[in-house]
Amino acid sequence: MVRGRFAPSPSGRMHLGNVFSAMLAWLSAKSKGGSIVLRVEDLDPARSRPEYVDAILDDLRWLGLDWDERAGDQSRRGGAYEAALERLRQMDLLYPCYCSRDQLHAASAPHASDGRIIYAGTCRSLTARQRALKPPTRCLRVKVPDETVAFTDGLQGPQALNLQAEWGDFIVRRADGVAAYQLAVVVDDAACGVTEVVRGRDLLSSTPVQLWLYRALGLTPPSFIHVPMLLSTDGRRLSKRDRALDLGELRKVWLPEKVIGLLAWRCGLIDRWEDVSPRELVADFDWGRVRREDIVMELPDTMTF
Ligand SMILES: [Zn+2]
Repeated sequence: MVRGRFAPSPSGRMHLGNVFSAMLAWLSAKSKGGSIVLRVEDLDPARSRPEYVDAILDDLRWLGLDWDERAGDQSRRGGAYEAALERLRQMDLLYPCYCSRDQLHAASAPHASDGRIIYAGTCRSLTARQRALKPPTRCLRVKVPDETVAFTDGLQGPQALNLQAEWGDFIVRRADGVAAYQLAVVVDDAACGVTEVVRGRDLLSSTPVQLWLYRALGLTPPSFIHVPMLLSTDGRRLSKRDRALDLGELRKVWLPEKVIGLLAWRCGLIDRWEDVSPRELVADFDWGRVRREDIVMELPDTMTF
C-alpha cells in the first residue's frame, strides 16, 4: 500500500510551490488507494515558528488536502537522530568537522555542477592528537565512498551521481547539535513507513546521498518522484518571499478550487483553468500527464481574479 507524505517546514505560509508538491503527493497516493502521513519539519529552531504550523495545517485542510495520520514533529525526534548517528559512528563513518564558514566558502573550494560547494575532506584525516588541539564542536560529517548511486525517478527518469565527486563528506549533525536535514529526512521517512516521496526537483541531487544513507542505516528507501519547480515570470524559483503567492494572500481572493485548478492546469492534469477540487482529480490522475520541466507562473497582478 502506498504511503505518501506531507513534510511542511513552518518557516512561513505555504506558497504555490508547496501547494503544488502537496497536491501531487496527495493525488499520487490517493489514486492508488494509499494514505498520507503529515510530518512537520521544524528541525531548525531558529527558522520554525509554531504559528506557521497552525496556518499550514489550516491551509492544507482548506485546499482539501487531508492526511490520514500525523507523525512526530522533527523538533521532538532528536533521540532518533542521535541513535542513527550512533549507528554510523559504530561503522566508523563519522568524524568531527572544525572548518569555519569562511574556510568552507574559500574561492578554492570545489563546486558541484549545480553550484553547491563540495567539502574538500579537510578534517577527515586529522589525527586524534590534532583533534584534541581544536576547539570542541558538535558538527559531524559522514565519510562517503567513491561510488555512483543510480536510481530511477518516477517523473525525471534515470539518475546517477557520484557521491564523492558531487557531494563529498556531508554534514549529518550541525555545530549547534541539530541533526542535518539529510539525516533527519531519511530517519523520519523510514520511521513513518513512507513508501513514496513526492517533492520539488530542487532536491533531486540530494536523493543519491539519502539513498546511500538508507543503505548504510539498514533502512528501506521509498520511491522518489521529483516534480517541476514553479518559477516567476523573470525565471526565479517561487519562494516564501513572493508574498502575493502565499496562501495568506491567495485565500483572501480565491476559493481553494481555483488554486488547485490553476496548478492542475499548468502541470498538464487538466486542459484549461477551471475550478476543481483534489478529490475530483483522483480518478483520472496519471503521472504520465504531469510535465517534467519547470513551470513559469504568472503573478497574480496579471491574472484575472
Ligand atoms: Zn572540516
